[in-house]
Amino acid sequence: MTESEDDTMKYISTRDTSANPREISSAEAIIEGIAPDGGLYIPKSIPRISAGDFDALMHMNYPERAAYVLAKFLDDYDIDELYEDCEKAYSTENFSPSPIAVKKLSSNMYSLELWHGRTCAFKDLALTLMPRLLSRALKTTGEKKTMHILVATSGDTGKAALEGYRDIDGVKITCFYPADGVSEIQKLQMQTSSGKNVYTAGVRGSFDDVQSGVKTILSSERLHAAAEAKGYILGSANSINWGRLVPQVVYYISAYCDLCSAGEIETGDRVNIAVPTGNFGNILAAYIAMKMGLPVDRFICASNSNNVLTDFINTGVYDRRRALQKTITPSMDIILASNIERLICLFGGAELTVDLMEQLSRKGYYKAPEGLMDEIRKYFSAYSANEDDTMAEIYLEWEKDGYLLDPHTAVALGSVVKFRLDTGNVKKTIIASTASPYKFAPSVCDALGILSGKDIFETMDILSEKTGTEIPTPLTEVRTKEIRFRDIIDKGDMMELAFRK
Ligand SMILES: *Cc1c(COP(=O)(O)O)cnc(C)c1O
Repeated sequence: MTESEDDTMKYISTRDTSANPREISSAEAIIEGIAPDGGLYIPKSIPRISAGDFDALMHMNYPERAAYVLAKFLDDYDIDELYEDCEKAYSTENFSPSPIAVKKLSSNMYSLELWHGRTCAFKDLALTLMPRLLSRALKTTGEKKTMHILVATSGDTGKAALEGYRDIDGVKITCFYPADGVSEIQKLQMQTSSGKNVYTAGVRGSFDDVQSGVKTILSSERLHAAAEAKGYILGSANSINWGRLVPQVVYYISAYCDLCSAGEIETGDRVNIAVPTGNFGNILAAYIAMKMGLPVDRFICASNSNNVLTDFINTGVYDRRRALQKTITPSMDIILASNIERLICLFGGAELTVDLMEQLSRKGYYKAPEGLMDEIRKYFSAYSANEDDTMAEIYLEWEKDGYLLDPHTAVALGSVVKFRLDTGNVKKTIIASTASPYKFAPSVCDALGILSGKDIFETMDILSEKTGTEIPTPLTEVRTKEIRFRDIIDKGDMMELAFRK
């Protein structure tokens, strides 16, 4: 390496196969979102947290931990500004009562509640911070144009992004969701969004259609040029953007510290981490936390009936040639998990990534080399839970611990149960709890044998009454908000909206 004395963080594209890959700063990676070659940005090397770092982190609150961990990745940001942004993002106004909580369940399991934010799903943790990171990045790089953020959502990202970017200077946001592929409350949350710089529309098609539509726009040099000519730049907020992924690393580290403080584990003990997975972003963030030094034994990648990832990790074959099934876990109804590309590149390098991604788009599948899969399987196990398993887990967990699971979290719990039966590995396990059960109240009621109400709000009331648990305030607020956005469009019209005034 020629720049060995330069120890600043650099980001490279997963598809850059040149001898000297183009290296950019984190601010540039966050602005660009997707690389010009269609690849995703990854850090050239992953920074470490030492024993000393852990000691320091133990005594910090969440915003402090976030700034501390993020500073290692975003070393071109001013540390004080980073802290200021984390404090604002993770305020009690945005997260009530705190950004995350770790709840002890029976059988060596811990629920890492990531849904105390304004949209009641884990994406709030990244999307309250990311607009601030972007805003800083635009200032640092001297960008004068307005940034137009395009988002494809399977339900939860959309509202979290619309909230996060609402009325942020220098930015506007357009959010696309599959018209019939999100839950009623998710749709209402988006349609009632406020803010003068936001717009949202349903698209006729699946999430994969919507995501590929956005990806096509964002990776077209012609369209970028056209946008620039009109005075703005196009950007992304999906987990293809590094700025979206990196805040997620923080909560795994923070949860581990919390378990140490609570005396549940000793510093250095290895834990398992189970994540209900769609685009592979959240679980990849957990893996990156491990690469930084977090003691993890195994990652359990949990899928619903759209079990492409289960098949991939178990057989090495990634096959997208299958019909998307609509499930009670819509945020995981995904066949093309974009962040697998990052995993492959981290394990196998850019050349292999380009080869496999090319096969995927040309033939609809690829078979990864056995050597690569052996390496991946040293860390990752994969299981899936079908609709019946998921419903059963919600019921059993309520009976056992009096703890309400949303269906996504239940998929993870069901996968842990299967993993344990298979392997006998019953290490303490952190389960990423990705949404409030109230966001999916009709399914949760079904699982518990409670009759739903005539609409989503009545159903939430009934669930609350029967279980003695509280409806999160942000969900009750949707009830009285006016619907602003009713548009349903064809996939072909997304492009036009990307150029909206
Ligand atoms: C987005 C989402 C997931 C999937 O997360 P990925 O990072 O896409 O793997 C799981 N559960 C819920 C509730 C979500 O909103």
